[in-house]
Amino acid sequence: MRLIFIGPPGVGKGTQSQNLVEYLSIPHVATGDMLRDAKKQGSELGKLASLHMDHGQLVPDPIVVQIVGERLDRADCQRGCLLDGFPRTIGQAKALDEYLHQQNKDLDLVLTLDVNQEELFRRLLDRSVKEGRVDDTPDTIRKRMRIYQERTSPLLDYYQEKGILRHVDGMGTPTEVFDRIKAIIDDVAKQKGDSA
Ligand code: AMP
Repeated sequence: MRLIFIGPPGVGKGTQSQNLVEYLSIPHVATGDMLRDAKKQGSELGKLASLHMDHGQLVPDPIVVQIVGERLDRADCQRGCLLDGFPRTIGQAKALDEYLHQQNKDLDLVLTLDVNQEELFRRLLDRSVKEGRVDDTPDTIRKRMRIYQERTSPLLDYYQEKGILRHVDGMGTPTEVFDRIKAIIDDVAKQKGDSA
């Protein structure tokens, strides 16, 4: 199964992505993690990416599209994968469509988690204490949320029109949220004639 997880920063995508990739036995392609790794390794790509990431800005599309393309070319992604944090702009979504079209592959599902603003901000501040991410300061969090609204949320309409978007209520415990996700996955797998 080939799926995308879209949601604002702090919505709980990280936790639910881990659950999902275990449940489906597919690779987890998380651009945020890939970019943070490149930054840690001190590569040219990492240095360039951190100029944007540390300020809560998006890394330019051509860079991200290239690293995702290289990752999707690998053997473990041929059966499917979970894209987490990508695409984040309409430009990235179109590049992904083109890539998949060339490979004669399709997206099965786009999931988005819905959580109210106060809960989002609370979860992000909590994460900043636990994980110490440099891009989790209150100012940067606000900026990342604004960028999500402006650049990423239009993707919801984009995938709604393609008929593959499903909303998940993200309020409640991680287990409750994952049960809702599993119900959708099982439904999509049944339609595809697969077993999830
Ligand atoms: P994340 O871990 O998904 O919250 O990503 C952390 C940061 O990495 C983001 O705030 C961006 O600076 C950068 N990033 C991750 N994925 C993308 C993407 N698809 N496009 C542009 N920038 C990205």
